[in-house]
Amino acid sequence: MNPNLIIDSSYIAAAFLFIYGLKRMSSPVTARSGIVVAGWGMAVAVAASFLYVFGVSEEARPHLWVNVGLAVVALGVGLGWAWISGKRVAMTAMPQMVAIYNGLGGGSAALIAAVELLGGHATGVVEQVVTVVGGLIGSVSFAGSVIAWAKLDGRINKTWRIKGQQLLNGTVMLATLAVGLYIVFGAQGHAPAGVVILFFAGALVFGVLMTMPIGGADMPVVISLYNAFTGLAVGMEGFVLQNPALMIAGMVVGSAGTLLTLLMAKAMNRSVSNVIFSNFGATGDEDQGDIKGSMKPAEAGDAAVQMRYASKVIFAPGYGLAVAQAQHKLYEFVKLLQDKGVEVKFAIHPVAGRMPGHMNVLLAEAGVPYDIIFDMEDINQEFATADVAVVVGANDTVNPAARTNKSSPIYGMPILNVDQARQVYVIKRGQGKGYSGVENELFFRDNCNLVYGDAQKVMMAMVQAVKELGE
Ligand code: NDP
Repeated sequence: MNPNLIIDSSYIAAAFLFIYGLKRMSSPVTARSGIVVAGWGMAVAVAASFLYVFGVSEEARPHLWVNVGLAVVALGVGLGWAWISGKRVAMTAMPQMVAIYNGLGGGSAALIAAVELLGGHATGVVEQVVTVVGGLIGSVSFAGSVIAWAKLDGRINKTWRIKGQQLLNGTVMLATLAVGLYIVFGAQGHAPAGVVILFFAGALVFGVLMTMPIGGADMPVVISLYNAFTGLAVGMEGFVLQNPALMIAGMVVGSAGTLLTLLMAKAMNRSVSNVIFSNFGATGDEDQGDIKGSMKPAEAGDAAVQMRYASKVIFAPGYGLAVAQAQHKLYEFVKLLQDKGVEVKFAIHPVAGRMPGHMNVLLAEAGVPYDIIFDMEDINQEFATADVAVVVGANDTVNPAARTNKSSPIYGMPILNVDQARQVYVIKRGQGKGYSGVENELFFRDNCNLVYGDAQKVMMAMVQAVKELGE
């Protein structure tokens, strides 16, 4: 049978599996199987790409076994690395891993563009424009995602801004675009290697410069923006290679990523351009605001007893829940409260944790039923009627400075209104700040007490305290 026919049909099957898998990922109930379905799609696409070397053009046929060897080595390295890192990664390091894998997708698209341009394969203006634009976007996504990975991993200082940053970024971008225009219209796709390398170097530098100043609470928007960029770049290079699987998968990721970016930006009350450009030229000296009052510690047992006799308790989980892996103990405590007739709800901020949906994943893992988990806009007005709000390892997402302190990097971001509850307990280990690095005035309020300790240990102590009370 003609290998090209098998390859093309496999690509269509893979694309179908990607779309169906993504559809299933839209609900927490079916998400796990959605991942498996999309994984099979990827396996089919990889197998078809492997077969590709047998069906390629006459020109490539003499190098058949070299190509097979290269494909085997690439598959071995890729599979091995992904398998080992996927097995080893800690749940708290998942966001960084997602960021770097996303960046590698953009980098791969850029490499395809580089091969096409260096080999002079892209014929025709449309093909060359698509190759250059895809290469540019892919390179920016790769470089930006590497910086996002390093920031999430705590390897680089979260905000790095210089005077005149906007001018520098604009100059690098325009220069890179000028080189891209020369490649297409000046050299008709046959530019010397030095010019092509200069183009990619410019795009990579721009990706770094664009991401370094972004910090605070804006990182989620940037990460999903790079997700969209990678999809777009892959789709474009799929067009250049006339590969249906890359085209469809790229467009699905590109459009899903774009929607996610817009949703995250809306949740943060920011426009995407505001996130990318607003920090340019800023000094980085945030005013911590005028904080009055003191931090008042409380014992886990005392807090638990108060909750046992409350009518309504709302939990606001954050990144610390993931660090402590306290979701199972938290749900055990919640079940105890429910048994005593307490109404319990969970309030989820859209950027809580370190990746979109982070808290939902943790709570689903612990078996918390979906009907007691609420999005911020659906529950925010209920805090005023709650006896107790419990902040479990959250910080930026409950910081009232976002409402009042104009110089704060989180100013304008909607927050969970935990401060409106009659009593607030904040579970955290010590004086650590949130991701944005700003002080939280909530902790100093009269109705707030801090229960110090690792969230898992605190939850164990709370479970113990309620059990000891008996009926
Ligand atoms: P934060 O990062 O603001 O705060 C986490 C808090 O958890 C800290 O105050 C820390 O204090 C506490 N903590 C850490 N470990 C533990 C532990 N083992 N037990 C108990 N407490 C612990 O969390 P939020 O979820 O409120 O906010 C998320 C932030 O991350 C936002 O700024 C968001 O923009 C950003 N972000 C989100 C992404 C996303 O997609 N969701 C992606 C990238 C960034 P202490 O050290 O004292 O214990």
